[in-house]
Amino acid sequence: ILLGSTPPHNTTVLLSVPDDVLLWKFHMFRSTVLRAANKFGRTTHSPSTLNHFKPVQMPSRGLAAAAVEYPVLWGTSMKALVKEKPAEGLILSDVPKPAIGPNDVLIKVSKAAICGTDVHIYNWDQWAATHVPTPMTIGHEYVGTIADMGKEVKGMKIGQRVTGEGHITCGHCRNCKGGRTHLCPNTVGVGVNRPGAFAEYISIPATNVFKLPDPIVTDDCASFMDALGNAVHTALSFDLIGEDVLITGAGPIGSMAVAVCKFVGARHVVVTDVNDYRLELAMRCGATRAINVSSGDGITKIKQVMRELNMEEGWDVGLEMSGHESAFHTMFETMNTGGRISILGIPANEFPVNWDKVVLKGLVLKGIYGREMYETWYKMHQLLRSGLVDKIDPIITHRFMADDFQEGFDAMRSGKSGKVILDWN
Ligand code: NAD
Ligand code: ZN
Repeated sequence: ILLGSTPPHNTTVLLSVPDDVLLWKFHMFRSTVLRAANKFGRTTHSPSTLNHFKPVQMPSRGLAAAAVEYPVLWGTSMKALVKEKPAEGLILSDVPKPAIGPNDVLIKVSKAAICGTDVHIYNWDQWAATHVPTPMTIGHEYVGTIADMGKEVKGMKIGQRVTGEGHITCGHCRNCKGGRTHLCPNTVGVGVNRPGAFAEYISIPATNVFKLPDPIVTDDCASFMDALGNAVHTALSFDLIGEDVLITGAGPIGSMAVAVCKFVGARHVVVTDVNDYRLELAMRCGATRAINVSSGDGITKIKQVMRELNMEEGWDVGLEMSGHESAFHTMFETMNTGGRISILGIPANEFPVNWDKVVLKGLVLKGIYGREMYETWYKMHQLLRSGLVDKIDPIITHRFMADDFQEGFDAMRSGKSGKVILDWN
């Protein structure tokens, strides 16, 4: 049954993963197996057996197309936004509430924000098809309150307002043990490899919970701190004080990065994009100039703006936040010698790079994945409390009730949006 086809809806199957050999077989046939396992997970009434289901560990970090163990309370029900089958779209469905282990925290979600990753999963593009097992409750940007916690959890209280880091790390690899948790090669993504936050409740390990005691950080803003954390991590990777910064890509993260750079004292912060709506967002977040590079020569346009700003040399710092080939090209071309570049954008395909610029200019390149755990979170929190919260406010362009999620996804897919917030209250 497991390897043949998706089983009928009401089949009861005993599923266990007793040894490595079987794990390897599951690995080979994982999509079929996981589809079957997940299907049973949502229909069977034999939870004790399903609790033996263990993740298949894949070597590439954050990219495992494997579901991980996520115990649930059978017989209970909550609303959740689910990618039910491998095709475009999402459905609002009834799923069992999550159960918590001794070190977990159960969060009642109040607001959640749609991320570009959620749009990839909605569209079911090639990335989603290879990385997300179905059915899967998606979403990883949210704010809520603690509804329950395991008996080993310390330093938290029921009712406290919290959000959560969306990368769950292994705790036993060299990087985790060395305190460089954000570099864990075994990272699992909330709402990607394990059920996420577009639901009434989510369970996460207590280590991933971030407390939000200060009402200055509004629920709206707190609902997308995971994404803001990408902007903060990328921007604060290099010294920005008095520096001239080029940001390629004025999506929600690029536009928030504009606000962060200005807030911490960068001089000129210039942004490029191919979409006027997004460039307007970046201007509202405080950009010095916003350049549309959709037509003509991007390098010439950027150099023209540099002259207008009386810049004598190139950019000191570059933040790549589009993932597009031409953006890399224009950035490498216009950076100052010794310039530093943080790269957040994830290219859809491989492409050639003008390496001579990188080498001969002595550029420093740093890839960014997620947020530093948890330094980025503390920095971000204090920046918000010191006034950043008002600077990134323009990024919130749409708010919907969770029931109207389709309108939210339509707004995101149109390209004419910043952050779209879904209300789960
Ligand atoms: P987004 O897709 O909303 O924004 C990307 C922007 O780049 C869009 O506004 C698009 O119009 C613009 N763009 C397209 N071509 C361009 C070009 N040639 N030059 C300049 N801009 C161009 O994405 P987002 O949510 O703001 O995220 C930014 C990037 O970071 C994306 O590539 C995303 O996949 C990636 N990301 C990476 C991580 C990570 O941990 N590394 C986390 C989240 C997002
Ligand atoms: Zn690890």
